[in-house]
Amino acid sequence: REIFGALAAQPADALLALIEAFRSDVRVNKIDVGVGVYRDSEGRTPVLRAVKEAERRLVERQASKGYLGPEGDIGYFDALKPIIFGPVDLGDRLCGLQTPGGTGALRLAAELIARARPGARILVGNPTWPNHPPILKSAGLTVVGYDHFDVATQRLTFSRMLDALSEAVPGDVALLHGCCHNPTGADFDAGQWTAIATLLRDRGVLPLIDLAYQGLGDGLEEDATGTRLVLDIVGEGLVAYSCDKNFGLYRERVGALYALSVSAEQARIVQSNLLSLTRANWSMPPDHGAAIVRVILEDAGLSFDWLAELAEMRGRIQQIRDLLAAADPMLAPLARQHGMFSTLPLSAAQVARLREERGLYMPSSGRINLAGLTPDTVAPFVDALASLR
Ligand code: PMP
Repeated sequence: REIFGALAAQPADALLALIEAFRSDVRVNKIDVGVGVYRDSEGRTPVLRAVKEAERRLVERQASKGYLGPEGDIGYFDALKPIIFGPVDLGDRLCGLQTPGGTGALRLAAELIARARPGARILVGNPTWPNHPPILKSAGLTVVGYDHFDVATQRLTFSRMLDALSEAVPGDVALLHGCCHNPTGADFDAGQWTAIATLLRDRGVLPLIDLAYQGLGDGLEEDATGTRLVLDIVGEGLVAYSCDKNFGLYRERVGALYALSVSAEQARIVQSNLLSLTRANWSMPPDHGAAIVRVILEDAGLSFDWLAELAEMRGRIQQIRDLLAAADPMLAPLARQHGMFSTLPLSAAQVARLREERGLYMPSSGRINLAGLTPDTVAPFVDALASLR
C-alpha cells in the first residue's frame, strides 16, 4: 500500500491506442500511416530473406547459449564499424558495445553523460522522436529544445537552429538525427553538417548522433555522411545505432553504442564506464538479433541479398514520396525528404476528421509513415487531405 498506493496513473501511449482504433475500424478502405514500421506494397512487415537464412544457419551451427558478457556480440559490433564509419580506422579511440535496440543505446549514452556531468544539458531539436525526451530525462539529463523545422512550409529553419546551438556552453551535448529525421524527414546536406560540426567543436559541445535508419534514406553510404563529418570535425562523440529498421529486426532489439574519444587512453576509461553502467542495467544485451546481423555481414552472399532488400525498401519509400509529390503540389516537399516519416501541417482536429470521415489513421502530430501507403492508396490519401481544404 505504501508503494503502489503512491503511484499516479500514466497516460497510455498514444500510438498504441491508434493501432487499437485502426484494428477495430470495420471500413475496408481504411489506411494506416501511423505505425512506425516498414511495410511492403502488400502492407506486410516481412522477415528479410537474408535474416531468415541467417537464422537457419544459427539454429544449425550455434553450439552454446552461454553468456557472452556485457559487451554482447563483439563480431557484430566490429562488423558494423565500416558501414557506419567508412574506411577510416578510428583505432583504439573508438569503443562501445552492443545494446538492446537503438533505445538501449540512447539510454546508455544518456547515463554515461549523466555520470560524467550530472544534470548535463542536452540540446534536442523540436520536433523529435517523442521518446527522446523521456529517455534522456530518465537518465537525469536536462533537455533543452530548439526549433529546426517549420511544418507549415516544410523547410528546415537552419539559421535559427545554428543560433540556438551557438548559445550552447562547453559540456553541453547536442542530439542529432544522423539521417531520415523522425518525424520530419528533413535531413541536412553536407554543407549544413559541416557548419553544425564546426559550431559544436568551437563551442565544446559533445555530439550524440542517433542513427536509426541508415540505408533507408539516400543509401547506406550516403546516410552516414553526417555522422562521419561530425566525428571527423569534432573528434569525439557518441553514436546510438539501431539495426531494427535497416535489417527489419524490430522486436529482436538490435542496437549498439559507439563512443569516439580524443585518445585511446580516454576511450579505455569510457569503455569501463559503459561496461559498468550496462552491468547495473540490463547486464547483457539479448543475443539473437545481433547474431543474425553478424552472420549476414560476415557472409558476402547474405550481405549482397540484404543490400538488395534494403534498396527495395528504400526505393519503395521514395516511390511513394514521388507519387504524393506528383499528385498534389502541397505535398511536393515530401519528394526531397528522407526515410519513412514526414509531418504534415495538420491540426489535431483535422487529423481527427480524417480518421472519422475517411478512415485515415495518423497520430495527432500529423506524422505519416510513407510505407503505410501503396501506389493504390496514394489517390484516396491525397483525396482525403484535399477534403480538408
Ligand atoms: N531513434 C529514432 C529516431 C527512432 O525512430 C527509433 C525507433 N522508432 C529509435 C531511435 C529506437 O529504435 P529501436 O527500436 O532500435 O530501439
